[in-house]
Amino acid sequence: GLNGQRGWEPAWRDARPRAHYDAIVVGGGGHGLATAYYLAKNHGITNVALLERGWIGGGNTGRNTTVIRSNYFFPETAAFFDFALKLYEGLSQDLNYNIMFSQRGMWFLGHDRHAMEMLSRSVNAMLLNGVDAELHDGDSVRRHIPGLNDRPRFPILGALNQPRGGTARHDAVAWGYARGASRLGVDIIQNCEVRDFIIEAGQMRGVETSFGTIRSDLVGMAVAGHSTVLAAKAGVRLPISSYALQAFVSEPVKPCLDTVILSPATGTYLSQSDKGELVIGAGLDMFLSYAQRGSLPWMERAAAGVVELFPAFSRMRFLRQWAGLVDITHDSTPIIDKTKIGGFYISAGWGTGGFKAIPAGGWCLAHLMATGRSHPLATGFCLDRFRSGALIDEASASGISH
Ligand code: FAD
Repeated sequence: GLNGQRGWEPAWRDARPRAHYDAIVVGGGGHGLATAYYLAKNHGITNVALLERGWIGGGNTGRNTTVIRSNYFFPETAAFFDFALKLYEGLSQDLNYNIMFSQRGMWFLGHDRHAMEMLSRSVNAMLLNGVDAELHDGDSVRRHIPGLNDRPRFPILGALNQPRGGTARHDAVAWGYARGASRLGVDIIQNCEVRDFIIEAGQMRGVETSFGTIRSDLVGMAVAGHSTVLAAKAGVRLPISSYALQAFVSEPVKPCLDTVILSPATGTYLSQSDKGELVIGAGLDMFLSYAQRGSLPWMERAAAGVVELFPAFSRMRFLRQWAGLVDITHDSTPIIDKTKIGGFYISAGWGTGGFKAIPAGGWCLAHLMATGRSHPLATGFCLDRFRSGALIDEASASGISH
């Protein structure tokens, strides 16, 4: 700051595209950037272009509420998301970039007897899957989270806590992966929209972009809310629907909430950022949309939820509100798979919970692109499950309405 930010080295090279690459990754969100990084780091494929139509991290990665946890129910998802959490635990060191990962715990409240039974089932499933989990009664929740409403409309009977859960700085995750990938030789190309694919006899040969034609026989796509639209240009139909998901921050206040708390009954969850803002999330807009903007009803519901949980916050003001576009599959589990086009691979369907998955999503898509085989952690995340019926229904793991 004292030097007026002059003479600072850029964190990554802003590259101009070349005519040909060994691999192209479309989408400069966390998943695309992590894929490019692990292609170079784990597989030695460094002649890679990462193409982002806007600025890196400007999609959902820079718009999410940064909650990281692995409290999933089924063995496939528990193993995958806990691998992501373990990579997050070492990511600042791996990238030599402070992603501000704060393992402050994640509390899922139980507001009635039935919810408590489901939470105890979840805790057992998590423990069986080797994931940390605690079941607390109402008194214990209040001891750990001061300020909770002591005369709530929705009684707080208890909670599931995952102590290793928490938050990280979303931009830092994107920037750290970008710097790491760029240093290994990846070309990070911003303002470069992929408009079409070049396919010859069922084999991917490259992409048409706003910067012209770029050729490669190996293309990975991680474009979140636009997955269906872009995949359709390659003739690939995805079982995904896109919705807007909103988030809100309050004005900054002194530290008052040192954990993440989610209340299914109020449809609200919140944490406090290092700047002091309350970071508040809620449910999906329940209609299909590509409009990246919010709506007043959810703002009102989120505010009502926060005040119901913490009456002391009733005088706080909203500072900002925004929305991202999330791509939801029918079983709320992602897709990391090859397609019917040779050399064309996709990572999609991360829905409302893909930030926490970024390191493992990038790891597994890079593995698939480099070897042509699914990573053992991602074999269940195949497209074929929508035909065979081997769904992994994790809709309730998100905790917010789907
Ligand atoms: P993105 O970050 O959206 O990246 C995709 C990129 O592709 C974008 O930058 C876009 O510009 C680019 N792109 C699109 N089309 C093209 C094209 N034609 N050519 C080139 N580039 C293109 N997850 C959690 O785990 N925890 C949370 O607390 C959480 N909260 C959320 C709150 C909100 C409000 C939202 C919207 C999402 C939340 N999520 C959360 C979900 C999470 O943000 C996403 O699942 C995740 O960021 C997806 O990452 P991505 O890299 O796939 O997508």
